[in-house]
Amino acid sequence: MSMTPSPVRIVLMATSHPGNIGAVARAMKNMGLQSLHLVQPREFPHPEAVARAAGADDILANAVVHSTMKTAIADCGLVVGTSARQRHIPFDPVEPRECARLVIDRAHEGNAVALVFGSERTGLTNTELALCNMLVTIPTSDEYSSLNIAMAVQIIAYELRLAMRNQPVLVEQVEPLATQDELELFYQHLQSLLAGTGFRDHTSNGHLMSRVRRLFNRAQVDRNEIRILRGILSALQQQRVSDRAGEV
Ligand code: SAH
Repeated sequence: MSMTPSPVRIVLMATSHPGNIGAVARAMKNMGLQSLHLVQPREFPHPEAVARAAGADDILANAVVHSTMKTAIADCGLVVGTSARQRHIPFDPVEPRECARLVIDRAHEGNAVALVFGSERTGLTNTELALCNMLVTIPTSDEYSSLNIAMAVQIIAYELRLAMRNQPVLVEQVEPLATQDELELFYQHLQSLLAGTGFRDHTSNGHLMSRVRRLFNRAQVDRNEIRILRGILSALQQQRVSDRAGEV
C-alpha cells in the first residue's frame, strides 16, 4: 500500500495540552500521514508531547508552528474543518468516509489539503470555520459527541488510509484548485472594485464579504476559474477608469 500523499496535512488550532499534540503525531504516523502544522500551541515543544508521540517524534520535530490559521492553509486548495457541534454551522457536515474519499481525490489531483482540528475546550471558532471549504463530523452518541482530539485525528486518518487503498491507478489531469492565498487576492480585488461603486451591502448584519467567501468556499473554485473571475474584475475596473476619463 502506498503512503498517504504528504500534501495532506493535519492542522491543530491552539492546542492546550502538549500530550495531545504527541498523541496526534502518533495517530498520524500509524496511518502514514506526515505533515503536522500547529497554530499557536499553548506549550510546544514539550517533553509530554514527545512522551505521548512514542515512535512518532520525527513528526513533532518536523511540525511547523504558525501564528495564524491563514498561514497554515495559505497554499491549500481544500480546507476541511472538523467539529462535534451541529449548531450554528454554515455547512452540512459530511461523515469521515465521504470526507476521506474527497480528500484523497483532491490530493491526487495535486492539491495541498488541510484537515483542521479545534482547541480542546472551544473547538473551531466561527472565524476558523469560515476559512473551511467543508466540515466533517464523526457520528457519535447524541449525549456526548466530543471526542478527545487525538482520537478524532485517529478516526479521520484511518478513513484516509482506507480511502487510499481504493484510489484509482490512473488519475485524469484536472485543473488544481485555487489556493487560499489566490482566493484572498480575489476577495481583495472584488472588495476594492466594489468600494469604488455605489454598491451597498444589503445583508442583514453587514457581512457581505463573509457571505461571498462562504459561497466561494462551497464552490471550491479551481485555478482557471479564479483567473477568469480576476479577468472579469480587471475588465470592469478598466472600464470604470475609461468611463471616468470620458466624463472629464
Ligand atoms: N467542546 C468542543 C470540543 C472540542 S474537541 C466543542 O464543542 O467543539 C477538540 C477537537 O476534536 C474538535 O475541535 C474537533 O476538531 C475534534 N473532534 C472532537 N469530536 C469530534 C467529532 N465528533 N467529529 C469531528 N471532530 C471532532
